[in-house]
Amino acid sequence: MTALATEPGTVRAEAARRRSIAVISHPDAGKSTLTEALALHARAIDQAGAVHGKGNRAGVVSDWLAMEQKRGISITSAALQFAYRDVVINLLDTPGHADFSEDTYRVLTAVDAAVMLLDAAKGLEPQTLKLFEVCRRRGVPVITFVNKWDRPGREALELCDELVDRIDLPPAPLTWPLGEAGRFTGLLDVETGAVRTYRKAPGGANLAEEEVLAPEQAGLEFGLDHAEAVDSAALLDPVDRDLFLAGRSTPLLFGAALANIGVRQLLDTIVDLAPAPGARPDVDDGERGVTQPFSGFVFKMQAGMDPAHHDHVAFVRVCSGRFERGMVLTHARTGRPFATKYALSVFGRDRATLEVAYPGDVVGLVNASTLAVGDSIYHPDGPAVQFPPMPTFAPEHFAVARVQDPGRSKQFRKGIAQLQQEGVVQVLVADELGDASPILAGVGPLQFEVADYRMEHEFSASLHLEPLQLSTARLVDAPDLPTVSAYPGTKVARRGDGTVLTLWRDIWHVRAFQRAHPQVALTPLVAGGD
Ligand code: GDP
Repeated sequence: MTALATEPGTVRAEAARRRSIAVISHPDAGKSTLTEALALHARAIDQAGAVHGKGNRAGVVSDWLAMEQKRGISITSAALQFAYRDVVINLLDTPGHADFSEDTYRVLTAVDAAVMLLDAAKGLEPQTLKLFEVCRRRGVPVITFVNKWDRPGREALELCDELVDRIDLPPAPLTWPLGEAGRFTGLLDVETGAVRTYRKAPGGANLAEEEVLAPEQAGLEFGLDHAEAVDSAALLDPVDRDLFLAGRSTPLLFGAALANIGVRQLLDTIVDLAPAPGARPDVDDGERGVTQPFSGFVFKMQAGMDPAHHDHVAFVRVCSGRFERGMVLTHARTGRPFATKYALSVFGRDRATLEVAYPGDVVGLVNASTLAVGDSIYHPDGPAVQFPPMPTFAPEHFAVARVQDPGRSKQFRKGIAQLQQEGVVQVLVADELGDASPILAGVGPLQFEVADYRMEHEFSASLHLEPLQLSTARLVDAPDLPTVSAYPGTKVARRGDGTVLTLWRDIWHVRAFQRAHPQVALTPLVAGGD
């Protein structure tokens, strides 16, 4: 009897108790705080601050991380796993800075649901909207958590209206705050009518002490606040799991991540409503069921996580089967074997050897420089599988990269290829510049800074970057390319995947060209979807 023959039952059961989610938000809405609070509640870490190293906890700081610290940004993204009730939650972190939203889009391919975090004072912000659109396009169901209710903010019903008016996503409240933002007295459980009150625990512990009041008791104690909360929540539809899974409504919760208020209810919602990993579509219009032999895809590459080595970790979302460290897998793109001796679970900045993983889990594969973002891997005992390519992104910043010291050309090429493989920047080649002077393309200038830093420190091939006066790309049918390249101020360049992009100074030039050549179809690249 082979191990594989005994597996389907276990794999099915393990998959069923996985919830793999990401938190999406505009910077400063409280994503890091919420991540820590979720883990704290689930007792995965015993002191908030351990996940992102924001506290005083002594951590290993590599050269690479020094740049993050200097800039006050978080580039590395962590996959955090913890148990809650009888479920294993995989919480995939997403970078906070909008310049790295391409990374966030990739993370969203690897989760089964998302938590949209809103700042009570700000509601839907630009980055939230962008990320929400990606969830909608990819069919990722969204739970909404309104954060910072301990501070003055907007009215709860007004925030609900905003969800309907701006993103056509009716909220279905599970909890409702007693008292307006900043004058918070407790959380109503909409279904039962009970109210949970919170008191800061003695001794500065982060977990607030909770007390549950039955509906009548809450009514007596909180009077008008209670009645108003009950009435307001009743104006909205109750949760319907099918509508939520179909992306047509969002379960809504209120709280304050910093004070650990409402976090438990969010965890319960993740367990009760978020979907377990299911069959995943492949490129051949088929699907890979969770009980089939191991398969997964790389959704993120991370370099330099270990300061002692310039190593590359490929983060793989397990789609089917049981992963066991040491398995020799097949790399779908090359057909070559890939050994998994060094498999990790990556917990914030900490890493531990990972022996076994199931659908929905994230495996960090070390020394994975042959893997690229979007690559599929599978166990050779099962059928081959190729998962859909990673969504690429509409770049808005472009710069020609040249090596400062021509004696370092070889390292330059190697480094650029590596950055492309990891998806740090897109690398385009224009005929007139050739591949010795590739065009780096990105959604934000910080991506170039990362590329520049890594080329200098990791490949000893310092860059000379020449920004181009271009800000948008369009797809054009091949026969029309000569017309576009003849137009002043445009460039034509080829992406690594063979796609030819036309690059434009700005939208006004696109429109002017379009007026002059209405017969030429210029197709925008869709963020997170093309
Ligand atoms: P991120 O950029 O989304 O990861 O946001 P952070 O978690 O770093 O939080 C941004 C700021 O908001 C920090 O100063 C947090 O302490 C603060 N913050 C987060 N959650 C809450 C909350 O529930 N209430 C209050 N008052 N502040 C919060």
